[in-house]
Amino acid sequence: MVEHERKYVIVGGGLAGASAVEGIREVDDRASITLIGAEQHLPYNRPPLTKKLWFGKQTVEDIFVEKADYYSTNGAEVVLDVRAVEVDAIAKTVRVQTEDIYHYDKLLLATGGAPRRLPVPGGELDGVCYYRYLDDYEYIRERADDGKSAIVIGGGFIGSEIAAALSMNGVDVSLIFPDPYICARVLPRSLAFAVQEDFGKHGITIFSEDSVESIEKNGQQYVAHTKSGGGLKADIVIVGIGLTPSTALAQTAGLQIDNGIVVNERLQSSNPDIYAAGDNAKYPYQSLGMATRVEHWDNALNQGKQAGRNMAGAGEEYTYMPYFFSDLFDFGYEAVGEVDSRLDIVIDWQKENQKGVVYYLRDRRVRGAMMVNVWDKVPDARELIKSGRQMDAGSLKGAIG
Ligand SMILES: Cc1cc2nc3c(=O)[nH]c(=O)nc-3n(C[C@H](O)[C@H](O)[C@H](O)COP(=O)(O)OP(=O)(O)OC[C@H]3O[C@@H](n4cnc5c(N)ncnc54)[C@H](O)[C@@H]3O)c2cc1C
Repeated sequence: MVEHERKYVIVGGGLAGASAVEGIREVDDRASITLIGAEQHLPYNRPPLTKKLWFGKQTVEDIFVEKADYYSTNGAEVVLDVRAVEVDAIAKTVRVQTEDIYHYDKLLLATGGAPRRLPVPGGELDGVCYYRYLDDYEYIRERADDGKSAIVIGGGFIGSEIAAALSMNGVDVSLIFPDPYICARVLPRSLAFAVQEDFGKHGITIFSEDSVESIEKNGQQYVAHTKSGGGLKADIVIVGIGLTPSTALAQTAGLQIDNGIVVNERLQSSNPDIYAAGDNAKYPYQSLGMATRVEHWDNALNQGKQAGRNMAGAGEEYTYMPYFFSDLFDFGYEAVGEVDSRLDIVIDWQKENQKGVVYYLRDRRVRGAMMVNVWDKVPDARELIKSGRQMDAGSLKGAIG
């Protein structure tokens, strides 16, 4: 066991963790930083794992958040392939699996989340892939040759994107999910059906309002038995059914947890020397006036950076409104705010189901906006949401776009 004295310790080598290094260095250019990550890779961006890596627009070398020498150049030690197992908030230490101890002055928990597991017989069979990590991309890529088949379980972001990506690479895809239509949490019904139709045209077979009840492996093939009584056969099984925030470490520190690590406007947890950012942090989303957890790239980037700045003494509130994006064949969008299909919806199409803006309203106030194949309008959408003005279909016509 070795003890290390550090000013700043960051647990989690994802985007939020890497961005925190940058944030710290904007304010404090000297003091010691250690970033501890359980994966064997330097921090990388996850969106390409379901998009550009499959579209031939990026290679694995392109997806890292920073160049390999960034950390040493900036005096940040990176400890990879090591899991932190305990935080002692009184002693201000982090114990890692090798039994080394890191003393900290300020600690960031940027532990993200882990894929939710499929609670059915065969859900843990060897090779069933809970798609989140670079290792998962590499594993699937090796097997996803032209002419292979895949069952994708889950019709949200990960499921829909990986289904489209595999299909573009010649894989015969069956996509199964319990909702009546794809991406049901964010897409209005009419648009979702248009997207689904497009999936069909690309050869993806959709099983909506259905679920997998068990999985078996026969030789090299998987068989998924469905609630509706079918048996889907495929070479690959991918599960994308959501994420559970990683809060185990926060629990060892006795921090307040409520579907994520609860933090204040400055991203401090219930212990002011311990910060949280990214997929695991439940924070006050000021422009929306609600506490929430955001599982998106732009939030991890900006919140991680803000947490780093505050660890180094900046004392600033996180008021940023993160956007998010997705690409499904020709259907691409950027979105911001509360993009929840249960809200009132007004759609301003320039070209039906292909180009336009979807507005999400509560009490006639815009809470969120999705710009479908309309680009660079996120700042306008943010302004509209922040204005809190009461709007209707008439006044929203042409408001963005
Ligand atoms: C395939 C995929 C595609 C995506 N596409 C989009 C997209 O198109 N648009 C968008 O907005 N968002 C997208 N996202 C979401 C976005 O990537 C996440 O919001 C972002 O990665 C969150 O970053 P994070 O650093 O908070 O957490 P993570 O990326 O989960 O990183 C956390 C890291 O901490 C490590 N860790 C956890 N516990 C410990 C521990 N105890 N000790 C050491 N290390 C630990 C984990 O191994 C992991 O490396 C996508 C996500 C995935 C998985």
